[in-house]
Amino acid sequence: MVNLPIYLDYNSTTPCDPRVVEAMLPYFTQKFGNAASRSHAFGWEGEEAVEVAREQVARLIGAEPKEIVFTSGATEGDNLALKGVFELYASKGNHIITVATEHKAVLDTCEHLERLGGEITRLSVNSQGLIDLQELEAAIRPTTVLIAVMYANNEIGVLQPIKAISEIAHRHGTLFFSDATQAVGKIPVDVGSDGIDLLSLSAHKLYGPKGIGALYVRRRDPRVRLAAQMDGGGHERGMRSGTLNVPAIVGLGKACELCGQEMAAEALRVGSLRNRLETGLLHIPGSTVNGSREHRLPHTTNISFSGVNGEALLAGLGKDVALSSGSACTSASIEPSYVLKALGLDDNLAHSSLRLGLGRWTTTEQVDYAIGRITQTVEKLRELAYK
Ligand SMILES: *Cc1c(COP(=O)(O)O)cnc(C)c1O
Repeated sequence: MVNLPIYLDYNSTTPCDPRVVEAMLPYFTQKFGNAASRSHAFGWEGEEAVEVAREQVARLIGAEPKEIVFTSGATEGDNLALKGVFELYASKGNHIITVATEHKAVLDTCEHLERLGGEITRLSVNSQGLIDLQELEAAIRPTTVLIAVMYANNEIGVLQPIKAISEIAHRHGTLFFSDATQAVGKIPVDVGSDGIDLLSLSAHKLYGPKGIGALYVRRRDPRVRLAAQMDGGGHERGMRSGTLNVPAIVGLGKACELCGQEMAAEALRVGSLRNRLETGLLHIPGSTVNGSREHRLPHTTNISFSGVNGEALLAGLGKDVALSSGSACTSASIEPSYVLKALGLDDNLAHSSLRLGLGRWTTTEQVDYAIGRITQTVEKLRELAYK
């Protein structure tokens, strides 16, 4: 028997790898120095640990250590990239291009900038969840300061054509920012060959601790400048003040190192489990996969079950299988997912969808149990609906 509940919500967060926790532990107690204390050994020890982590993060994405700014996570990284560029490049223009299926940390920040006089273009996506490159190019104006397109979508796992986007951006002299929170540590991401100027990532999506992340800021060709959003002691080369969270930074670094070593094999193993799960669930009549199955993260699938109430489905599974619907909970009401609606799904179908995220500790037994349990629940709900 498998242990219940089974966790299939790795896109919302991942458990910390025990090797990450072990690396962090000394930095809470014996090695507690403030990394900004330059006058004694406690501070030097903290600073050294931070610089090792900076190298580990940089290596995973093909960056230079100096291009890594530690943040509290991807939400902060997204805010810093968008607001920081908007503010600093105000003399060039006020126009930002983004996509309807971005994470709320990008979309809500863009709305905020709109209230400050920014002009925002939100590109639509096709039924596969992909943007149209010609539409992107046509949207660029002389005043465009930033193109913000996520690497991989958190609900459907769809990968945007990052290289083609960066080529278009650079041909028009515009900076390119990518929220790569779901991609980094799962598939190869390289800011050099991908042509990314700014990139946000988060530790808790790649088996590190919560509340820590990083923003990559390109230093040459072109050199990207940012207006700080947090003023204070001038930490992180003035881009993000505040005493560094040394234990969490050490954890992020270790998590990145492990992903670099294990990602290729892990993507194969978890990818084949995802395919097993998807094939199993597609045996249920009226089930369909949302978004491109070709351009997609290896560990994610999003499936709709037509005619089934999504809330009832989640409620029926909740005790045994931990997953999320395609829906985002806004205040008390459960709204159908704006990502699925952007693909063209109607409210009912969007509501009847499950996002399944597999990860480092997912097993074949768990997948087989989930297939059985979800199949049984869908059948039961359909029977009830026909009574
Ligand atoms: C989880 C996630 C975020 C938010 O990251 P936090 O570190 O939790 O703030 C932003 N963007 C994407 C695509 C995500 O999946």
